[in-house]
Amino acid sequence: MKTGQLLVFDGADQPLRLVQMEVPALKTGEILIKNTYTTLCGSDLHTYCGKRNEKTPTVLGHEIIGTVAEIADGHNHLDYNGEELKIGDRVTWAVFAADPQEEWLNKKMPQKSENLFKYGHARIEGDDVFHGGLGDFTILKAHTAVFKLPEELPTAIAATINCAVATVAGAMRLAGEVLDQTVLITGLGLLGNLTVAMCKAQGAKKIIAVDISEERLAQAKRFGATHTYLSLENAMVRENLSAHQIGAAFEMSGAPEAAELGVEMLAIGGIAVWIGAVFKTRKVEIDAEQVIRKVITIKGLHNYNFEDLQYALKFMTDYHTEFPFHEIISKEFPLTEATEAFEYALMHKPLRVGVYIDQLK
Ligand SMILES: [Zn+2]
Repeated sequence: MKTGQLLVFDGADQPLRLVQMEVPALKTGEILIKNTYTTLCGSDLHTYCGKRNEKTPTVLGHEIIGTVAEIADGHNHLDYNGEELKIGDRVTWAVFAADPQEEWLNKKMPQKSENLFKYGHARIEGDDVFHGGLGDFTILKAHTAVFKLPEELPTAIAATINCAVATVAGAMRLAGEVLDQTVLITGLGLLGNLTVAMCKAQGAKKIIAVDISEERLAQAKRFGATHTYLSLENAMVRENLSAHQIGAAFEMSGAPEAAELGVEMLAIGGIAVWIGAVFKTRKVEIDAEQVIRKVITIKGLHNYNFEDLQYALKFMTDYHTEFPFHEIISKEFPLTEATEAFEYALMHKPLRVGVYIDQLK
């Protein structure tokens, strides 16, 4: 019988608890993954500090990669792209799993399926404990979309694919064609910088970044932003932005002011995509007459679908050397120091902090 260690999260303001548990026998269609690396996502940090409520006890961490350790009967030994899955293959996977449901698959929203299971978000129940990134193993439920990772993709970068990169891929899908367009991006965390990179790769003419931090705007320039504005100077920002013909406005910060700014600055026929506000904020105020007269579209997206994850992997495979993705991870910690990793992330607010997982012998 295999055992593995994992860090249990019991609630905000409580230290993570290191426990050792037996790895249960796999059920039909499941895959056992040896976790190798987890990046702490914004929602992990929100849960850790109590800004967001999760059922506890749980194991945090959903931006994970690992290697295939065992494949149970009932799995077809293929990844989502149809490639053969073997023991030892390095893989990423969708953050959610559910029995295939026609209704949600037809709507291209599998992330909204009934009885959805989400890695790094589920309550520990009985021996169902290995489902987060802050542990030695993840047991992938049947029907999890798994993707083999190309060898050349660096570990830390690969870990961000199944949350941040795939979510941005979904935002790009909703925005439609950005070739030769002017785009606005508010909020230059990891999602914002990935949007800058994808817009650049897809041939956007002007990429305008707006944030409240000079440092983040400087970073956005390194990712390919052509214009940057510090949003604290609000009146001037509005004046400057209105000179651009903005076709798409991506809102990644969660700030209602940023969502309002984006919609207001859109040109005729423009589209706003809202991703950032995954926590309670005040209601957004928009001018309905302007939305109508300028024929504006507003779309929201929570998580992503399988095609978005597929695109995210392809994008990072094709472009990982063309953008400064090495800047994503500012510091790495071993699993046993994950509490320090959270504290560091909350204090310094880097794009990501990495946690590497050493296996028990
Ligand atoms: Zn996430």
